[in-house]
Amino acid sequence: MSPRMPTPVETGSVTDREFTITWNDNHTSIYPFELLRAACPCASCRGGHENMKSEPDADVFKKNLGDLPSTRISNVVAVGSYALTIVWEDGHDYGIFNWHYLRALCPCPEDRVKYGKA
Ligand SMILES: [Zn+2]
Ligand SMILES: [Zn+2]
Repeated sequence: MSPRMPTPVETGSVTDREFTITWNDNHTSIYPFELLRAACPCASCRGGHENMKSEPDADVFKKNLGDLPSTRISNVVAVGSYALTIVWEDGHDYGIFNWHYLRALCPCPEDRVKYGKA
């Protein structure tokens, strides 16, 4: 992993409507739960291992959050020092969100320009 890759210094409360991550470059990402779940990187959500990518599908940003299934995070578990596993209220916990993937999923306009391909 590149040394310039931002890493989180703080993650938000899972009881909020949104999950926040504050990064070591002083940026704060605010993720609606629906966006995180829709972008779950696990093989089952992506439709097979061959569809697993290091960055989120650009399509996820085109969707209306209100059209995505509403869901809540029940827990967030650190995976070593490189990723988080998000445990959803329905028990789904297969997605490993590494720092690069999470930052590339930041919905702010700046990061959409930086990481988005569209
Ligand atoms: Zn999944
Ligand atoms: Zn951002």
